[in-house]
Amino acid sequence: MTPANEPSFRDSVDIMFNRAVALMDLPPGLEEKIRVCNATYTVRFGVRLRGQIQTFTGYRSVHSEHMEPVKGGIRFSLGVNQDEVEALAALMTYKCALVEAPFGGSKGGLCVDPRAYDEHELELITRRFAYELIKRDMINPAQNVPAPDMGTGEREMSWIADQYKRMNTTDINGVACVTGKPTHAGGIQGRTEATGRGVQYALHAFFRDKDGMKKAGFESGLDGKRVVVQGLGNVGYHAAKFLSEEDGCKIVAIIERDGALYDENGLDVEAVRDWIAKHDGVATYPNAKHEPDGAKLLEADCDILIPAALEGVIHLDNAKGVKARLVIEAANGPVTAGADEILRNKGVVIIPDMYANAGGVTVSYFEWVKNLSHIRFGRMQRRQEETRHQLVVDELERLSADSGIGWELSPNFKEKYLRGAGELELVRSGLDDTMQTAYQSMANVWHGRDDNIDLRTASYLVAIEKVAASYRAKGL
Ligand code: NAD
Repeated sequence: MTPANEPSFRDSVDIMFNRAVALMDLPPGLEEKIRVCNATYTVRFGVRLRGQIQTFTGYRSVHSEHMEPVKGGIRFSLGVNQDEVEALAALMTYKCALVEAPFGGSKGGLCVDPRAYDEHELELITRRFAYELIKRDMINPAQNVPAPDMGTGEREMSWIADQYKRMNTTDINGVACVTGKPTHAGGIQGRTEATGRGVQYALHAFFRDKDGMKKAGFESGLDGKRVVVQGLGNVGYHAAKFLSEEDGCKIVAIIERDGALYDENGLDVEAVRDWIAKHDGVATYPNAKHEPDGAKLLEADCDILIPAALEGVIHLDNAKGVKARLVIEAANGPVTAGADEILRNKGVVIIPDMYANAGGVTVSYFEWVKNLSHIRFGRMQRRQEETRHQLVVDELERLSADSGIGWELSPNFKEKYLRGAGELELVRSGLDDTMQTAYQSMANVWHGRDDNIDLRTASYLVAIEKVAASYRAKGL
């Protein structure tokens, strides 16, 4: 738990924002305009469940409308409150600016424990919440486009899209009112894995940055790095899976609600995920040691710490004990402002949430564009691309045979070269490019100044400058 003497999540975001703007030359009015949250709508609604009416409280907060639609996930959790939703909405503004997704920032949340209801009950609750937001244009393809967040996923997004369609039967772009839908309901391939994939690409970008690696004290790349992950949900699971299966990382600990699993030789991410799905937790998992006080493992000996569950988990009371040299904030706001200072003073490098988990909104952007263009990416080009590549291969093989050289193209090369890019390849390529470009823009500021700023401040400087430029261009 975050200690009571720490600033709230909202205040933490403002402290980090203020640290960055103090280094900028923005007019005070513009600074204030960017910082404040434009509006927060609170809704209380009743749903008849199990023979009686239950009342729920939900929020949709719009932080900045310098670009529209505004974008940000909807979270289902008992911890949801106005302060949290506003902090998350502010982060969305900066995140979208940093990765150049053309959206303002927003966020929504419903105070509900999704595990306490069955699927039918959750559908009733989700549709009713969506109804309340849709009728006030707080879900709308041109104005406000939610996405999944903690406690929500494809299923909830699909219900929301359907609810919107029922209430706007003639809106031809209706399916673009929400992203993160299943592919058979207007979604895009690669969205479910996108945030975790983005965390992986962020680490690739970091480990290509020699100056960054030096600041964290690393001499070698990702291969063999010992990683601790908190939260094996959508984001944490995909990040851990890709890092262990594709990059040679060892996932030495997984921290979940009911404690942590650890194994120096590396945990089998897929097996742990399956176990959680069947047993609703990790406590009884047989193939690793279990620590009931899971949060202790945030201080375990490792190279990279990936908090991928919730905010405020690294705070004044445990920051000193963190041993990782690199913390990558897959969750939003996992490091409080106080802990941030302690970690910076210890020389720990933090890849900030605004960048680290931007893979989700990046692929959401692709999904929204796909929905508005009403055509799957790659559909027009794929076959034509394959035909042209086949021509080159045929010609090379003919030249080789005619000249008597007898070269043979390897089957692996032919298979890879001949295959035209489908939607998933294009999404991954667009995501990789976005994460690399955004990293470069932060790194240029991080290494290019002589006042020794940290990576988070660099990310805020880049993002705020983009938002400010947008306000200036609009004449505000
Ligand atoms: P999720 O609900 O799929 O997963 C959260 C996981 O954390 C679950 O496995 C849950 O059991 C675990 N958890 C909850 N409380 C815990 C605790 N106290 N200790 C340890 N584990 C705990 O949520 P998600 O979509 O993976 O989101 C996780 C974080 O990533 C959130 O901060 C969210 O805002 C952020 N994020 C998500 C997305 C996305 O696309 N889903 C995009 C950007 C950022």
